[in-house]
Amino acid sequence: MLFKHILIVEDEFHLGEALTVSLRKLADYVEKVSTIESARYYLETHWDSLPDLVVLDRNLPDGDGIQFCRELRNHGNTGMILMLTAQSGIEQRIEGLDAGADDYLPKPFSWEELKARLKALARRLPEKKASIDPLWSMDFKKLQIKGPAGWVRLTPLEFKLAAALIHANGEIVGRDQLLREVWGFQLLPQTRTVDLFMSKLRKRFEPDPERPLYFKTIRGAGYSFQKSA
Ligand code: CA
Repeated sequence: MLFKHILIVEDEFHLGEALTVSLRKLADYVEKVSTIESARYYLETHWDSLPDLVVLDRNLPDGDGIQFCRELRNHGNTGMILMLTAQSGIEQRIEGLDAGADDYLPKPFSWEELKARLKALARRLPEKKASIDPLWSMDFKKLQIKGPAGWVRLTPLEFKLAAALIHANGEIVGRDQLLREVWGFQLLPQTRTVDLFMSKLRKRFEPDPERPLYFKTIRGAGYSFQKSA
């Protein structure tokens, strides 16, 4: 495999689907999103296994791929970025490379050309990391989280709660904060609600829900998430 993890950001449905199918031959894991907003969310929720290649369309419904490319570089994203665009002028090309893209491929392109360029990009990757698809990956489309026992499907509220805690990455999150973030204060929820959902999460992820290893209670303060037991 040339890559471990590829993220495709492409809003043209058929092209996006074709890319997904093709790139699965070159990578262990391929995900596709169609807006900058969803790409941002995807990367936030996969902060511990960032893609080693982002295939980024230039014209997206909610913005310019160039801006997003800069944003990725400003956030220290070191994977390869291949920009796709219908504009093939030399100026656009330079603009793309200036923004931090590693290569720039005008549409339409052939699979052979794409593959050749990806091979060249893969050679420039820093040493490959050993792990892909580690614990606590989140699949927000399917509302699934990968815990120690594999992928677990959650209800929307359970998923939001787990995501809020996992995002906090070890910091303590208070019950009030969780109520605000997860329930948005609808129907005057009570702090008891958080405890109830927390015990649901534990039943799904903890080997022994009575003695949680991951979703911990911090007495008098709230909860915190520990990535490893
Ligand atoms: Ca487009």
